[in-house]
Amino acid sequence: KQRVLEGIRELPAETTDGERVSLLANIGLLSDIRVALQNGAEGVGLYRTEFPFMTRSAFPGRQEQAEIYKKVLQGFSGLPVTIRTLDIGGDKALPYFPQPKEDNPFMGWRSIRVSLEREEIFREQLAGVLLASPYGKCNIMFPLVSGVDEVRSIKTILQEVRDELVREGRQVSDEIGVGIMVELPAAVFCAEFLAKEVDYFSIGTNDLIQYTLACDRNNQRVKRWYDPYHPAVLRSIRRVADAARDAGKPVTLCGEMAADPVNALLLMGLGIRSFSLSAPAIPAVKEAIRRVSMEEAKKIAGRVLRMESGQAIRKYLEGVNAEIA
Ligand code: PEP
Ligand code: MG
Repeated sequence: KQRVLEGIRELPAETTDGERVSLLANIGLLSDIRVALQNGAEGVGLYRTEFPFMTRSAFPGRQEQAEIYKKVLQGFSGLPVTIRTLDIGGDKALPYFPQPKEDNPFMGWRSIRVSLEREEIFREQLAGVLLASPYGKCNIMFPLVSGVDEVRSIKTILQEVRDELVREGRQVSDEIGVGIMVELPAAVFCAEFLAKEVDYFSIGTNDLIQYTLACDRNNQRVKRWYDPYHPAVLRSIRRVADAARDAGKPVTLCGEMAADPVNALLLMGLGIRSFSLSAPAIPAVKEAIRRVSMEEAKKIAGRVLRMESGQAIRKYLEGVNAEIA
């Protein structure tokens, strides 16, 4: 099986009836670039920039950040790279940036909320991304967005930082895609509005499951409530895929659930045509995609969407998995 998986690196992720799916990598460190390319990633759907921030003792400035982002863009030589702005707080801490003590950190001061309040840090990061942008196919993405007001504030700041750089005579790409992570139920329900504001969506199921089910993604005590097959989660994904399609905007799904091949088939049936995964999971997902038709994937999804029980869905998918294995 391992040899089969290695053999498909150069082959496209294409169903038997000829539908293409994009398989991108989730990365954090520069060392992930090699692993991503070895596994046949077609680019980066999620670059978690917390990692370069974690390995330092103070916030890196714009130039230092630009150097790192440039290495990533060049490492993928022209393939798309989606750089996500800082997503600290909750489960991700920086040693030199003390977090306030909060009763509910996952519902507290984290992610884009930190960026929008500590604007000097945010502007420095945006400048870093913009300075690196001419060195590849650069997209920028914002985490934990809850609605259009946030997106408009973000876009205003991004435009200001860009204008400032251009005034300084710096080169900045004109083709940077601006997107958001859909990982809050609020964003799911406002997906139609949000789709008009951005170039693309990326569904972050790790957090979307947590916030939909009020279930801490890292708390083992409540693990059984953290259920990717809960109908509320699957209907949310369907809703976002539909809104994106209606608006003519692409959508990627970058949560861990897509790393399981049978889940990827289900998600394709729900309308997802692009996945960003931990790179070692790419070959097995690709292999599964190459063995089914889009019709079959849609049948799986149609069946699942009619089920009321997460447990029944899990059981049904285990059966599908046994069939395709
Ligand atoms: C997610 O929330 O699904 C996601 C991909 O981002 P992170 O795991 O970094 O929160
Ligand atoms: Mg997230």
